[in-house]
Amino acid sequence: MTADPVAIARDLIRCRSVTPDDGGALGFLQGLLEQAGFAVHRRVFSESGTAPIDNLYARFGVAKPNLLFAGHTDVVPPGNETSWSHPPFAGEVAQDMLYGRGAVDMKGGIACFVAAALDYLAAHDGKIKGSISFLITGDEESIAVNGTIKLLKWAAERGEKFDHCILGEPSNVETLGDTIKAGRRGSLNGTLIVTGRQGHVAYPDRADNPIRGLVTLIAALQAPLDQGSDLFDPSHLEFTSVDVGNVTVNLIPGQARARFNIRYNDRHTQGALKTLIEDRTKAAAGDRIRYAFEWQPSNADVFVTKPGPFTDLAVAAIAEVTGRTPKLSTSGGTSDARFIKDYCPVLEFGLVGQTMHQVDECAPVVDLVTLTAIYRRMIEKYFA
Ligand SMILES: [Zn+2]
Repeated sequence: MTADPVAIARDLIRCRSVTPDDGGALGFLQGLLEQAGFAVHRRVFSESGTAPIDNLYARFGVAKPNLLFAGHTDVVPPGNETSWSHPPFAGEVAQDMLYGRGAVDMKGGIACFVAAALDYLAAHDGKIKGSISFLITGDEESIAVNGTIKLLKWAAERGEKFDHCILGEPSNVETLGDTIKAGRRGSLNGTLIVTGRQGHVAYPDRADNPIRGLVTLIAALQAPLDQGSDLFDPSHLEFTSVDVGNVTVNLIPGQARARFNIRYNDRHTQGALKTLIEDRTKAAAGDRIRYAFEWQPSNADVFVTKPGPFTDLAVAAIAEVTGRTPKLSTSGGTSDARFIKDYCPVLEFGLVGQTMHQVDECAPVVDLVTLTAIYRRMIEKYFA
């Protein structure tokens, strides 16, 4: 039996799995994996104020090492379906492209690693020197609280150990094989609040305008945070909103707020970064400006998978199949790799990301076939 990644991707696309709906996607995978001899577990996680979400963990074999493939079957909404040239949940192939929501992000990637694993197991009669596992969530695109983070914890509690993980998110920028994501920047949100004294605009001496103080502090926080590191670009603080909420023309407001986000590299921990920001603010404020910070809790800490045997294996597999040597990148937004990195080293490699989340999201059939061959080569090398 040869597993066809295009057929698997098509069948997954036909499941309407816009977060938090599953649309039958995990059931379809469960059937496929059970048929191939995987032990499959389904777990629904919930939390007050959030929709319950279905998740899947499957494992073939019990021995070490356990190579984990991770991904998500949920997708972002299609937007206006009539603006698609092929319906977003039909999985149509036209001009050698597979169309549909999730074709790239990331039902296509899941189809490729499932097909690669099934092919490898069939070729070796199910006898492998370790285990292959799949950790698939339905909660990545939205708030991501009832997905990978809880599924990993559940798996660890039942004694599952992971040695290495490949997350099949679309990692390539332009061509299949150009980029592996080997880490991600951290993300931290905060609000800076300056308090003054409200008053009549014609009598500024009786008031204290907090906007002046806020402007001073915003300017002070524009200074660079670092010069980057071996594997990361410089960290960056960006103000996203300045709010006074004053609708009155003759009133000096009593308070002004500015919201900001920091994307930070491995030169900082979250705690040290907060201290750095607060120290700079304190120096700029002197004893003239009264201010406070509100920091939002963040579960998106910086991480990096250092170059070594595992990254070498992935790079070699990609080079052997495509002739391209991928670069190890840490750019872009966050992903579930931020949770997986607490359990084992993780790399992200999948399709080319260009059409993800867009109308007419699509993946070239040739890329699905090539990505399957790459994953197949990675598995071969891993258990060699
Ligand atoms: Zn994704």
